[in-house]
Formats: sequence, C-alpha cells, structure tokens
Amino acid sequence: MKYPRVHVAFWIASAAFLLLFLWDVSPTRGQSPSAVNSGSGDQSRVRSTVLVPAFGAAAARNAALSTELTWTFGGKEQHGWYLYTSLIKRLLGTKDDPAAKGFAVALARWQQKSGLQSSGVLDEESLYAMVAAWQGRRIKDRTPALPEALVTAPPADYFDQERLEELRQVERETYTAYKRMFAAALADRSLGLARGRDGQLHANEKLLKIISSFRSREYQEKLRRESPQAGSAGLAVNSPHFTGRALDLYVGGEPVSTNDANRAVQVRTPIYLWLVRNAERFGFRPYFYEPWHWEYTGVSRSTGSH
Ligand SMILES: [Zn+2]
Repeated sequence: MKYPRVHVAFWIASAAFLLLFLWDVSPTRGQSPSAVNSGSGDQSRVRSTVLVPAFGAAAARNAALSTELTWTFGGKEQHGWYLYTSLIKRLLGTKDDPAAKGFAVALARWQQKSGLQSSGVLDEESLYAMVAAWQGRRIKDRTPALPEALVTAPPADYFDQERLEELRQVERETYTAYKRMFAAALADRSLGLARGRDGQLHANEKLLKIISSFRSREYQEKLRRESPQAGSAGLAVNSPHFTGRALDLYVGGEPVSTNDANRAVQVRTPIYLWLVRNAERFGFRPYFYEPWHWEYTGVSRSTGSH
C-alpha cells in the first residue's frame, strides 16, 4: 500500500509550504514599515490589496515551472513556458526574469487584474489565461483577401529571393506597415542588420525578410499535405495567411520549425526581442507559439501615434 505514504508526503509538503508562506509574508515581522516599503513601489501596492503572497517561494516555483510545467497546446503536450518569457515579461510589464521576486510581484498584480488567484506563481491556469490574452489579439476574421486588396512585393523583401510572384502577395496596409517596421529595425544599429558600402541594407541580409505572406486556400492545403506532422498549432485549416495580413518573418534559426530547440534559439535573437518590444507600434501582433509569425491588426489608439 503506497497511498498512505503518498498522503503523508503530501501533508508534509503542504505544511512546509505553509511555513514558507508565513515566513515570507509578514511585512510586520521584525521590520519597520520603512524597511518594508524600501522595496519597489509595486510590491507595497500589491501588499495593500491582496493577501501578500510568498514571493520568494513563488520565484523559486517560477524558476522550476518555466521548464517543467506540463500543459497542452494545439493537441500537443508542452514542457514549460521558458520559450515565451519575453512575451510574458511584456504582458506583465516587468523587466525581471522568472527567477526574480519582481517577476512574481508583477505576475501577482496581473493575476489579480485578470480575476485569478494572485499567487505570483505562473501555473497552468495563469499560463492558459496568458495564451488566451495573446490569442485574443490576433486576426479573428480570416476571410480570404480579395485580389484588389493585395500588392505584389519585390523579391528583395523575401527570405527566398527566388520566390514566385504569386507567392509574394501581401495585403496593402500590411505591406506599408511592414516596410515602416523594417526601416525602423534597419535604423536601430544595435540590431546589426548587414549593410553594404552605400549604407543600404546588404542584399544578403535575411533577418526580418518575409518567408511567407498571403496564401490561397489551395496553397495552404498543399503545405498541409507536405507537412502532416505540423498539427493544428502549425498549419491551420483556416489560416490567417488567407487574409494577406499575416507575415512569417525570418528571426533566426530554422525559419519555420516549431521544434523547441529551434524556437529556443529564435526567441533569444536580438531581432525577435526587438519585435516583441516594437512590432505593436507598427500594428503587428505575435502568434506566441511561432516566433516568426506576426499579424497586422492595425495600430490601436492607446499605442499608436497616428
Ligand atoms: Zn505564419
């Protein structure tokens, strides 16, 4: 009989957690109010409105869960949320990494705002809420673009400069926004996009080039037949690419492989991190699961200047 032993272990673990919780919580324990408030203002704000969570313990849990949490997306089992750390930090409005207390504090604030238990721990429930938030900002209407809404972009805009003309179509507004975003990335010298002697973009530079833009239903079906293992998270039956407003952009690594090791490379490249911080200014929203896939949903009034 192993059940009683499991129970005992469970209660010991629970008691230990509770002790940790009490240890870390109490702002009054042997500290003057000024010492309590000497941390970030955010922390004291959270303390005044929610049951003060054990942020030290939460930070340790987050460090572990970032690689260990088991969850499901697109019918596939997923391991951890470390691939989405930069998107999560942006959503939470924090610069702190998951192992830091500041991350747990920012998360607790977001959890409270989202009607979740503000534990500061990025568990399954909070992760699904984040996924829902990201997914909710994507293109909802996937009606195929009418031919007159599309422009044909030059081969130089594409990762594969041999790409056929019928595969180089982009919805008009999306293309304008993409060109503006590209110009901003090029102007940001910290990204190091390759330049020729004339100071212009080097012809061989692949970063931020378009891998795939508008796709017809026929072309999407062809891709699905060629990659049956891609699953619904990868090649959708009803693809946002039909609208001409979804762009796959080269951010490094294997261009469009959802393999975790590949995505781990992509989400750390300067160009991807730049997109996470800046794409929204140009009206582009991420598809969290594919670092290369960005959708033009327009510039919202709160973030845009025009
Ligand atoms: Zn895509």
